[in-house]
Amino acid sequence: MSDLPSCPKCGSTLTYEDGALLVCPECAHEWAPGEAAAEDGPKVVKDSVGNVLADGDTVTVIKDLKVKGSSLVVKRGTKVKNIRLVDGDHDIDCKIDGVGAMGLKSEFVKKG
Ligand SMILES: [Zn+2]
Repeated sequence: MSDLPSCPKCGSTLTYEDGALLVCPECAHEWAPGEAAAEDGPKVVKDSVGNVLADGDTVTVIKDLKVKGSSLVVKRGTKVKNIRLVDGDHDIDCKIDGVGAMGLKSEFVKKG
């Protein structure tokens, strides 16, 4: 049994080690094991100006945002406390006064 990672290109599990590289015999792809691992590293979520966001941060909405499935609008300048970072298109989970729980896109907020 081998515990080598499968080929990132074709998914083959027949990969083998060649020195520092891993080689796939099926599609001839060669790569360094570190490369694949880096993609699984912690995701960094940044706001509209490049500040790194973290769970529990307070952010300010920088443009009017319509709330999906309702007529509510989150106004530009709204402060959102205690955000939670999540995976996905809307990468911030939060609760906004008068609106409730919703997802925001980090590109539409600014830290602080
Ligand atoms: Zn392959």
